[in-house]
Amino acid sequence: MYTRNETKIINIGGVQIGGGNPIAIQSMTNTKTHDVEATVNQILTLEEAGCEINPGNIGNSERVQKVVEKAKAYHIPIRIGVNSGSVEKVLLEQYGGVCAAAMVESAKKHIDLLEGMDFTDIVVSLKASTIPLAIEAYTLFAKKYAYPLHVGITEAGTLYRGTVKSSAGLGAILSRDIGDTIRVSLSDDPVQEIECARAVLQSLELRQFGVEIISCPTCGRTNVDLIGLAKQVEERTKHITKPLKIAVMGCAVNGPGEAKEADIGVAGGRGEGLIFKKGEIVRKVKENELLEVFMQELNQIL
Ligand code: SF4
Repeated sequence: MYTRNETKIINIGGVQIGGGNPIAIQSMTNTKTHDVEATVNQILTLEEAGCEINPGNIGNSERVQKVVEKAKAYHIPIRIGVNSGSVEKVLLEQYGGVCAAAMVESAKKHIDLLEGMDFTDIVVSLKASTIPLAIEAYTLFAKKYAYPLHVGITEAGTLYRGTVKSSAGLGAILSRDIGDTIRVSLSDDPVQEIECARAVLQSLELRQFGVEIISCPTCGRTNVDLIGLAKQVEERTKHITKPLKIAVMGCAVNGPGEAKEADIGVAGGRGEGLIFKKGEIVRKVKENELLEVFMQELNQIL
């Protein structure tokens, strides 16, 4: 199998993917493309949120020939996007319906077409809206080809459900060392896709994008508004680019110990709280001052 360290390196603008490069985050604009101003604004907003590539569409095979000529001249790669919902009828008949083998065969047809034109700057996606099918298709493809893979679970759904489904699917595929770029597909603002994609990559320890918040689920020992505190800490630290682990824990009994790998953390108590660094308690403060004092201590680290 070709893992992400063994896939062909492809240059997309200033971003390199494949061959062990960092897994790139993609999205797509959802503006009307004839509204240039709105589209450019959304591209810039996505870029600011951390989006790295925005793909385009080519269309039918006659256009492919023309696009290939220009793509060769300007060193622009082409993504072959197979989607479980639009596998060719002839393949569906041959394989008795949608399956991983039919999806990979569909990709093969397009790869053969491009390779026949002596074009190999190819990225492939095999998106399915069901996770087991997506896992099988991507795994099967990686056994046969060293072209980099763009991974996504298509039509994943609205913000909450789509985030869960994308995370489950991307997590399963990326954990197999497959996947060179990703897209989270949400029925929501594309900026949410970037936040989710970053969180997925950070959770899998495949990329680092600044702060990672560890917070406990609360229990009978919690005596502070831990959920509110965790949300405020998350909000006030999301601009930080330095890789830091921050813990927000509900009690002093287990908090500092359980989160000792955190660079800095807070642990709530009865009307007060502790601030700790690498598991060592550094300050004890009143609950109503906890957030501000925590931010001061954090700024010292920064
Ligand atoms: Fe409960 Fe403390 Fe663990 Fe939070 S850290 S879940 S409050 S025991």
